[in-house]
Amino acid sequence: MRYEAKLGLSSVPIVVGELEGSSGEYLDGTIRLNWRLILAPVRIQDYVIVHEMAHSVHDDHSDAFWNTVGTLSPTIRTGGNGFVLTATRSQSKLERSLHGRY
Ligand SMILES: [Zn+2]
Repeated sequence: MRYEAKLGLSSVPIVVGELEGSSGEYLDGTIRLNWRLILAPVRIQDYVIVHEMAHSVHDDHSDAFWNTVGTLSPTIRTGGNGFVLTATRSQSKLERSLHGRY
C-alpha cells in the first residue's frame, strides 16, 4: 500500500461496510469506508483513504494533520486553514460528510 509506506506503517486495515452518516472514519487502528464510496470517482476514494490514513497519526484537523495529508498525496494541496484542492461544492460537502464527529 503506497500510502502506508509513506507513513512508515506496516499495515492499516481497511474495512468497507455500512457507515451511518459518514464516508469514512478512523477508529481503533482501522480505516472504515462507506461502501457507497465505490460509486464515487477514484480521486474521491483516494482522498477519503488519505484523509482517514492521516487520522492514524493525528486525531484532529490541525495544520500537522493537513501536512500529513499533503505528504501522503501531493495532488491534494493544503493551505493554512485546511483543505483547498479544487474547492468545489461537492468537495466541501464530502469534507463535512467525513466522520461527522470532527
Ligand atoms: Zn478528518
